[in-house]
Amino acid sequence: MQVTRHCAVTYRIYPDKAQAGLIDRTIGCARLVYNLMLETRIDTYNRTGKSCNPTPAQYKDEYPFLREVDSLALCNAQLNVAKAYNNFFRDPKHVGFPKYKAKHRSAWRYTTNNNNRNIRLIEGGRYLKLPKVGVMRARQHKTIPDDWKLKSATVEHLKSGGYTATILFEYETQAPEPVRPVHIVGLDYASHGLYVSSDGEQADYPRFYRQMEPRLMREQRRLSHMVKGSGNWVKQKRRIAKLAAKVRNQRADFLHKTANRLAARYDCVGVEDLDMKDMSQSLALGKSTMDNGYGMFRTMLAYKLERQGKQLVTVDRFYPSSQLCSDCGYRNKDTKNLYIREWTCPDCGVWHDRDVNAATNIMHETRRLVQE
Ligand SMILES: [Zn+2]
Repeated sequence: MQVTRHCAVTYRIYPDKAQAGLIDRTIGCARLVYNLMLETRIDTYNRTGKSCNPTPAQYKDEYPFLREVDSLALCNAQLNVAKAYNNFFRDPKHVGFPKYKAKHRSAWRYTTNNNNRNIRLIEGGRYLKLPKVGVMRARQHKTIPDDWKLKSATVEHLKSGGYTATILFEYETQAPEPVRPVHIVGLDYASHGLYVSSDGEQADYPRFYRQMEPRLMREQRRLSHMVKGSGNWVKQKRRIAKLAAKVRNQRADFLHKTANRLAARYDCVGVEDLDMKDMSQSLALGKSTMDNGYGMFRTMLAYKLERQGKQLVTVDRFYPSSQLCSDCGYRNKDTKNLYIREWTCPDCGVWHDRDVNAATNIMHETRRLVQE
C-alpha cells in the first residue's frame, strides 16, 4: 500500500538587499492582513452577533501596497486566522481567543504555496526561486529525491539575524509492514528527566534552558539598560535571540536522538495521556515541564514508530498508573501523595520505586490495549 508523507527541509537563504526588503514587506503585509481580518471578524460579531469570513482582497483599496507582495502569503494569513478560530472553538479551555500579532512578539515569517513551479530549487538546492522575490543563493546539505513534490515555502527573517526558507515536500512511499508488538515499553512522565521507562531506564535530560538561564538573564539585564531602538539595542536583541535559538536546537536534537533510540529498540511504546498545559501551570512543575518538551517528544515518537510499522499507544488519563501495584494489581490510594517516591505493596509485600512501577503499569495496560 502507498502512503503520502511530508518532509520539511530548512534552507539558509541569502537574499540581496532589495530581496530582503521585499521579504520583510511581505512579512509585514501578512501580519497586517491577519490583524485586519481578525478585527473585521471581532467587529462584525460585536455588531451583528454573526460570524464572517473576510478575505485579503477587501483591504487592497485601503492599503494598495498589499498588491505589491505575494498574494498567496496573504491567503495563508487568511487560513491562519481561520485556524486560530477553529483551535479556540475546539478547546476554549486551553486555547486562548485569537490574538493580534505584534511585531516584537510574533515570529517574522510568511508562507507561500507552489503553483506551476513558481517556487523552485535550482542546481540541486544551490539556489532557490521564490514568487515575486526571485532567485537567491541557498544552502542545505540534504539531497532531495527527484520524485518529491514541492508544496510550499515558509520564509523567515530570523530574530537572530539572517533568513531561512523551510520547504515542505510531499512524496509517496510504500507503507511499512505492521510489526507484531513483542517488545513493549511503558514511559512514565518525569518532569525532571523527561521519562522513566518500565525497564528502569531514565532519559537523562540535560536541562538546557536552566543551564542557559543565568546567561540569558544577564543579557536581558544588559538590554534593559540600552536605549530602545538604538544600534546596540538591536545587536543585543539579536544576541538574546541567538541564545534562545540555541536552547531550542539543543532540546530538539536531544529529543530526536532519544525518540530514535526508543523507536529502534521497541515495537510499541505506551505513554500517558497528559494535559501538558494543565501540568505546566501547576506551580510545582512549572519551568521543568516547559523545559523538557515532552509534548514535542511524544509527537516525534509517534511518527518515528509509525514509519517502521510500529505504534505509540496512549493510555487513558484516568488509568491509575501510579496507584496500582504492578505485581499483584492492588490499588494503593496512599500513593496519590506525590511526595511518596517509593512504597511497599500492603498486599503482596513487593517494594516499588514510584516511577518505575507507574511505567510498568503503563506497559501492562499498553499490552492489554494492543492485544484487544
Ligand atoms: Zn502487590
